[in-house]
Amino acid sequence: MGASNNGNFDRLTGVKQFDVTGKVLLIPDMAPFAARALAACFRAVGVNARIMKTYDGLALGKEFTSGKECFPCQVTLGDILSFLKGEKERLGPAFKPERYVYFLPEADGPCRFGMYNKMQRLVLDRFEEFRDVPITYVSTRNSYSADAIMPPKASSIFRKLSYAAIIIADIMDRTVWRVRPYEIRQGITDSFMEKALAAVMEEIEESGASLKLKKLNDLTEDIASTAATFIDTRKPRRPIIGIVGEIYVRTHPDSNQQIARLVERLGGEVVIASIAEWINYITYDMARDQKRLLRLAWLNRDFASVRELAPKFTATQIEKYYQLFRQHRSYSRALKHLDIQKDHRIGTLEKRLDRNNLYNFDVGTEAGLSIGAALEQVHEGFDGVINVFPFTCMPSAITTAVLKPLLNRMRMPYLDAPYDGAIQPNREIALRTFMYQAAQRRESRIAGKNRNDRRHVIPDNDHKRDSSGGIPDRNSRGSHP
Ligand code: SF4
Repeated sequence: MGASNNGNFDRLTGVKQFDVTGKVLLIPDMAPFAARALAACFRAVGVNARIMKTYDGLALGKEFTSGKECFPCQVTLGDILSFLKGEKERLGPAFKPERYVYFLPEADGPCRFGMYNKMQRLVLDRFEEFRDVPITYVSTRNSYSADAIMPPKASSIFRKLSYAAIIIADIMDRTVWRVRPYEIRQGITDSFMEKALAAVMEEIEESGASLKLKKLNDLTEDIASTAATFIDTRKPRRPIIGIVGEIYVRTHPDSNQQIARLVERLGGEVVIASIAEWINYITYDMARDQKRLLRLAWLNRDFASVRELAPKFTATQIEKYYQLFRQHRSYSRALKHLDIQKDHRIGTLEKRLDRNNLYNFDVGTEAGLSIGAALEQVHEGFDGVINVFPFTCMPSAITTAVLKPLLNRMRMPYLDAPYDGAIQPNREIALRTFMYQAAQRRESRIAGKNRNDRRHVIPDNDHKRDSSGGIPDRNSRGSHP
């Protein structure tokens, strides 16, 4: 039995961290590039990971929940149930539940995400044939460390490699959103990026374990430079729409009913908040907490605690700066060829919130990121903001409460887009109205201030380098004003 094979399977919480090497690790789909790059990182360190087919099992996910759960919980539950049922049918008596491990990360803090895997354990236990499929996780508690689910050497490689892979996946997403609305031939971007993803996964699996990331960065640069040639520069720049909100629904195209493509069809260009933003936030928040505890221990003259906390704080700070360095390294390669949107720094978002007394990171959750990012987007010259979230999502309700009146006062078009799997006939009408407002905002800004705004300026690095060593300054490239 899988559970007993894995030692002390904890029936109290129903989930457990253990070495998953040798098992088939089942990962729910989310952001398509990032999920597949992450699975490749697992494979690079010897874990046979695969992404489950997604959304086909939504009816199952809804059948085994009460309706009060968060929508991502229903979708991911549907994915695992549908996968296991399919495997059982396909393999018949050869189906061995203990071959598989279901991987569902969790978060501590005030949100329900920490309970998804426990709740899903209860559901899997209702099926005799799935009781022995273990559930494992990584957690925000220790900044998604994989130490407890693989050997130490593999875990250390996996941590660095998976961060680099997620940055590259974010850049690939941003490349698609920057190029696809202006492509010279319909479908060329998607078909190229499918091949590019396969090449990235192959490279991760082949050389990722060595942590020699130069080839991956070379590949990122090649992808951006090729994709840049797909832009028909005669097509005018469109209104730029920032999409913030809950990480799962905003990045999972089935759950958000393909909102990026819909906005593009209605005449916009999107920039969705990145996956790295959340990972950077977890590290930033951990450093913030450790600093507070260290300060408290110092004030209380508790030197034993100071000695214990100081190295931890230093390690987290190093990790924070490593992430910034890695992100800059990869983005700078793509930015030589294509003016994709750079990612926000978490410290910048916090300062913006603090300056305006809008929200405090002490409250936690994604609300701070969404509010901060939307304000940055106003500052960066975006033309509208959409808050995408699961119906009844708690942090997103906070985001709405703060952003709606605020952006209204700033005359920034804003739209709430809640999702629960139902088709809402008036959603497209609301989006059309929103896009009309965004286009008007863009027109009036161009008329008022920036006449270069409708141009595409694709850096031609092969022929011309700027003084910053080939990393053009956004403001000089006629991208978002
Ligand atoms: S962020 Fe929203 S969807 Fe996610 S667990 Fe919290 S309430 Fe649920």
